Amino acid sequence: TDPLEVVDPEIAQVLADELGRQRGTLEMIASENFVPRAVLEAQGSVLTNKYAEGYPGRRYYGGCEFVDVAEELARDRAKSLFGAAFANVQPHSGASANAAVLSTIAEPGDTILGLELAHGGHLTHGMHLNFSGKLYNVVSYGVDPTSMLVDMDVVREKAREHRPKVIIAGWSAYPRQLDFAAFREIADEVGATLWVDMAHFAGLVAAGLHPNPVPHAHVVSSTVHKTIGGPRSGFILSNDKELGKKLNSNVFPGQQGGPLMHVIAAKATAFKLAASDAFQERQRRTLSGARLLADALTTDASREAGVDVLTGGTDVHLVLADLRNSQLDGQQAEDALHAVGITVNRNSVPFDPRPPMVTSGLRIGTPALATRGFGDAEFAEVSEIIAQVLQQTGDTEEQRGRVSALAERFPLYAGLEEW
Ligand code: PLP
Repeated sequence: TDPLEVVDPEIAQVLADELGRQRGTLEMIASENFVPRAVLEAQGSVLTNKYAEGYPGRRYYGGCEFVDVAEELARDRAKSLFGAAFANVQPHSGASANAAVLSTIAEPGDTILGLELAHGGHLTHGMHLNFSGKLYNVVSYGVDPTSMLVDMDVVREKAREHRPKVIIAGWSAYPRQLDFAAFREIADEVGATLWVDMAHFAGLVAAGLHPNPVPHAHVVSSTVHKTIGGPRSGFILSNDKELGKKLNSNVFPGQQGGPLMHVIAAKATAFKLAASDAFQERQRRTLSGARLLADALTTDASREAGVDVLTGGTDVHLVLADLRNSQLDGQQAEDALHAVGITVNRNSVPFDPRPPMVTSGLRIGTPALATRGFGDAEFAEVSEIIAQVLQQTGDTEEQRGRVSALAERFPLYAGLEEW
């Protein structure tokens, strides 16, 4: 019954410090967000105590009558939010969702075709140290060296050449929308299964501000914690119920044991919130903020300082700053923004001349600040500060002060200490 600060003051201190960091800085890592209080409550709940191997109504443990309700709600809400006939909400993370998907639609040794990691793909789409790269024969498509866009003619050529079992559409760092119908046409032509990983842009899809992959793909996987802003976890959708049965068995017992019922309850809450008008309005601010940031990094002054934006802009929640011509490399730029209180991550750009630990790019996202309440005026101000830092103009102390003032104007988790 003792509180954390009595039982384990060192960990209590970590929580307090992290809360202070989140409150006092501007979070612009494109894959991060702030969960609402209701999600924190559901996740930090007694449901963490419950074993529930199996699926609602067919569990291997007794006492599942209440957690069954949570999982049914999460599944139904996911299906209705994305218009899918099947949902599995048990994956502990995006990576475990992807492991279950791949083990369902490919056998070890089969060929899989996805976006190259260095061009914005994800580890689970075939990186050599990841299970996907070890178990499968990986071929990739990259972006066009001039437009930096995925060229569907190249995808088609690669698919015809390699006849993959699986084609993967989805990304971790790409600022535009993919043409899911064209991907499906290619998959059908070569007899491949189309898997879309919408981990990054799922919140935009839920808000109707990005094309929905569900009608086009055989299977769709996602995380819940990026643009959706729910608990750290994954889920899988499909319109093919027969495939759904196989996906279920490849999540449990294929990949996982007991599901995290506290996280599943929190997912249900996040999906409920994602169907609201307030959520849609937030996703609009997310997109608008990203466009303002792209504008600020494509001015004449910016380009003169060697700072540009890949593809010249964005259609999603993130901007990829191109620092190939800048004096600052990705690491230095990340550090310079950190020094004024803005958190981003460095990111390789396609055809990057610098090594992966240094990079020539930054991935900068707007979801977390939109959740915090930022609108166009605030996004314009933070974009101006970022542009100054990257151009190495202006005064660092003044920039830090402006960041603190913005952070203070949008309190985060007010009164959390008393919850
Ligand atoms: N898929 C994509 C496209 C991602 O960007 C990510 C996260 O970075 C994942 C999957 C994996 O999610 P997680 O970190 O929850 O395993």
